[in-house]
Amino acid sequence: MELERRALRKLGVKGVEIRKPEQLQIVSALIIPGGESTTMAKLAKYHNLFPALREFVKMGKPVWGTCAGLIFLANKATGQKTGGQELIVGLDCMVHRNFFGSQLQSFEAELLIPKIVAEEGGPPSFRGVFIRAPGIIEVGPEVEVLADIPTPSDKNVHSGPSVESQQENARMENKVIVAVKQGNLLATAFHPELTADTRWHSYFLKMTSAISEDASSSIISQSTE
Ligand code: GLN
Repeated sequence: MELERRALRKLGVKGVEIRKPEQLQIVSALIIPGGESTTMAKLAKYHNLFPALREFVKMGKPVWGTCAGLIFLANKATGQKTGGQELIVGLDCMVHRNFFGSQLQSFEAELLIPKIVAEEGGPPSFRGVFIRAPGIIEVGPEVEVLADIPTPSDKNVHSGPSVESQQENARMENKVIVAVKQGNLLATAFHPELTADTRWHSYFLKMTSAISEDASSSIISQSTE
């Protein structure tokens, strides 16, 4: 949470934590951070956040889901421990939990992000930090792909997709999607708040400004702590 707020602060925006459904009425955008999506779903249910979150998404307000937040926004989730997991839904995609493996297979990789560069400038790639990250394995027609990554072929024994496996899979066009946008929804499988590069946050703020004129007054983060 603090890291999301720090990234927003760098861009001159104050973030607040959301713990209660009624707090969603006073903010113009929402970041759903990483964590553990089953636990997040249980907490959201316990605090009766689902109806307000779904309403927020339906109203067209900007929402950015990072990692577990992406899972939470997806229409469908598959992979480990998905049974009965409640999702907000709205993002027309199928997400695969822990796509790259367990905690030990967490990794960093350079991602090509042409659409973000077109808006934000800066270097052509972004250092993606993937922590027990999901992968997006299907997208609907309204979903715009912002980044993908070659699927690691050595999934079970790697500490990140090796350069060789990335090259091999890139050749075979064997890719998994890791960042998307659909209207008011943004989702990333990696954690931009863990890097010093604020281009994703800046991009989301621009989305927010485009959707709501006075968005800069209050960008919030949902708390899962
Ligand atoms: N693997 C987690 C899940 O499935 C997400 C991990 C993360 O948010 N860094 O919920």
